[in-house]
Amino acid sequence: VAVDPALAARARGPAAYLDARRPVAERVSDLLGRMTLEEKVGQMTQAERGAVDGARDQITTLALGSVLSGGGSVPADNTPSGWADMVDAYQSKALATRLKIPLLYGIDSVHGHNNLVGATVFPHNIGMGATRDPGLVRKEEQITAVETKATGPQWVFAPCVCVSRDVRWGRTYESFGEHPRLVTEMAVAIEGFQGGNKRDLATNRHVLATAKHYAGDGDTVFGSSTSGTYTIDQGVTVTDRRTFAKVDLAPYVTAVRKYGVGSIMPSFSSVDWTEDGVGNPVKMSAHTELLTEVLKKKIGFDGFLVSDWEAVHQLPGDYPTQVRTSVNAGMDMFMEPYSAPQFVRTLLDEVRAGRVKTSRIEDAVSRILKAKFELGLFEHPYTDRGLARTIGSPEHRAVAREAVAKSQVLLKNSQGALPLRKGERIYVAGVNADDIGNQAGGWTVTWQGSSGGIIPGTTILDGIEQNSSHVTYSADASAPTSGNDVGIVVVGETPYAEGVGDVGNGHTLNLSDADKANIDKVCGAIRTCVVLDVAGRPQIVTDRLPRMDAFVMSWLPGSEGAGVADVLFGRRPFTGRLPVTWPRSEGQEPINIGDRDYAPLFPYGHGLRTRR
Ligand code: BGC
Repeated sequence: VAVDPALAARARGPAAYLDARRPVAERVSDLLGRMTLEEKVGQMTQAERGAVDGARDQITTLALGSVLSGGGSVPADNTPSGWADMVDAYQSKALATRLKIPLLYGIDSVHGHNNLVGATVFPHNIGMGATRDPGLVRKEEQITAVETKATGPQWVFAPCVCVSRDVRWGRTYESFGEHPRLVTEMAVAIEGFQGGNKRDLATNRHVLATAKHYAGDGDTVFGSSTSGTYTIDQGVTVTDRRTFAKVDLAPYVTAVRKYGVGSIMPSFSSVDWTEDGVGNPVKMSAHTELLTEVLKKKIGFDGFLVSDWEAVHQLPGDYPTQVRTSVNAGMDMFMEPYSAPQFVRTLLDEVRAGRVKTSRIEDAVSRILKAKFELGLFEHPYTDRGLARTIGSPEHRAVAREAVAKSQVLLKNSQGALPLRKGERIYVAGVNADDIGNQAGGWTVTWQGSSGGIIPGTTILDGIEQNSSHVTYSADASAPTSGNDVGIVVVGETPYAEGVGDVGNGHTLNLSDADKANIDKVCGAIRTCVVLDVAGRPQIVTDRLPRMDAFVMSWLPGSEGAGVADVLFGRRPFTGRLPVTWPRSEGQEPINIGDRDYAPLFPYGHGLRTRR
C-alpha cells in the first residue's frame, strides 16, 4: 500500500522545516518528506506574472515554486509600492497553500533594477567591463540588489557571464568582454548580489543571483559552418572540450567555487564538439554532460538550474520528450511562462510512467528549497518596504555616475583635443546626445528598450550643459558654425535586445547615414571635432576616423549621462579600456585578442589616459 508522504510526515510531529534554528539541510529534508509529488513538481515550475492569475489561479492550484517578470512585464503601477503590492499579493497566495512554501520572484535586473521607472540604471555590462574595476561592479550589484529587493523580487537573472567573441551578437552589451579572464574577474558581480562569504542571503540587502547563459552563448558560429547555417543568438558553439573549458566555462568555475552562485541559467544555444565529429549540436537545455557531469559533479554547483524562457520547447521531439529530456539532463526549474499547467501535467505523467526518476525530482526540489531557506523567505516572505527610500537615491546615482565616467574609452585624442577647456564654445549634434532611452539601451523598462524620455536621469547633453554655458545643440547638425571652438557629435545605436539586435537580422555595425552626415558637417565646419559613440558594441568608423580629433566610446551609460561630461571636461581622467576588439570592418568579425593575423582598428585593451 502506498503511504501518503504528507500524512506520514504529519504523524511525525511539528514541522521542523518551519524552525529557523535548524540547519538548512535538515529543513530541506523535513519539508521534502512532507510534500506530495504534485507539490514537488509545482516547485520546479515558474510562470509569467501576466499568466498566473487567470480563471484558475496558478500559484494556488499548481503550488508554483516561482513567478517571473519577463522583460517589460511590469505592474500597471510601475512604482516601488506598485511592485511590492503585486509581489506580496502573489506571495500571500503561495503562503495560503498547504505547506506554506514561499514563492521566489525572479526578474532581469541586468543593469540596475532596470524594469522600474526611477531606479538607478547602470551602464550595461560591456561598459562595466571597460572600467576594469571589479570593486565597482560589486558596488553596482549591491545597489541593484537593494533596489530590486525593495520592490519585492528576491532573485535576479544576472549577471551574464557570457564571453562575447563576436560583436555582431545582439547581446554583446550584456557581456563584460571577449576575454575569459576579464569576465571571470567581473563575476564578482555575484558577490554584490548575494553578499560575501559565498552566500549571505538572509539579509534584506541581498538577492539570489543567476549566472547566465551556461555556456558558450557568446561564442557561437555565424553564417554557414560544416554543420549548417546558423544564427548568432541562440546559435551553435562549434568547439573542442579544451577550448570550451578555457573560453566559455572559466567564469562559471569562479561563479560556483568562489562566489557560490545560487542559480545558473542554461543557454538557448547548442554545443557541437569537434572531436566527436561536428554535425550533432546538442541544446544546452538537454546537455547531460555539461549540466550534470561537468557543472554539478565536477565543478560542484550546488544551486539550481533554471531554464531560459520556454527553452524546453526548442528541444527535439514532442512536449513529453522535451520535458523528460531536460529534467533528466539536470534542469531543476522550468521557466514556462505561459504553459505552467501543461508542464506540471506532463512532468507528473513522466514521473508516474517511470521515465523520470523520483530521485531526480527530489534532487531538483532540494536545490530550490535550499535557496528559499537560505534567503530567509520562510521567516520574511514579504517585501521590506522601508528599503524603497534608497531607490534612485543621490548616493546610488553617484556610484552609477562614477561607473559611467570610468567606462568611457578614449580611442583617439590628437592635439590633446580632450579634455575640453574652460570657456570653449561647444556645438553638440546627434540624437544620442539627448536621448536617455537610447543611452540606456535594451532591457530598460521594456525588453527591447525604447528611445525617448523613458526614465529619469541625465542625458549626455545635460551633463555638457552643466559644465558650460556656451552650448548649442542640434540633433541633425543644422548650421554648425565656425563661431564654435569644439564640435561634439554623438553617434550610435538605438535600443535592441537579444537576437533582435543580431547583425544579419536587420542590424549592422556600420554607422547610419545620418550619423555619417553629422560627422561630416560638424568636423567640416568646426576646428576641433570630438565624436562619441553611444552603442552596445563597436561600430565601423574606419573611414571617418581621420576626420575626428578625438573619438570616445561611451557604450550604453544608463541613467547617469552626466558621467560622460565628467571625463570630457577633465573632472575625472579617462581610464577605460576596450573590453572587446574594435574591428576595421564588419567582415573582420569574429576577431579576438590572440587571433592569428590580428589587425583590428583598435586592439583589445586599448584606451588612452588623460590626467584629471
Ligand atoms: C533571456 C534571458 C532572460 C529571460 C527572462 C530570455 O529571453 O534569454 O536572459 O533572463 O528571457 O526574461
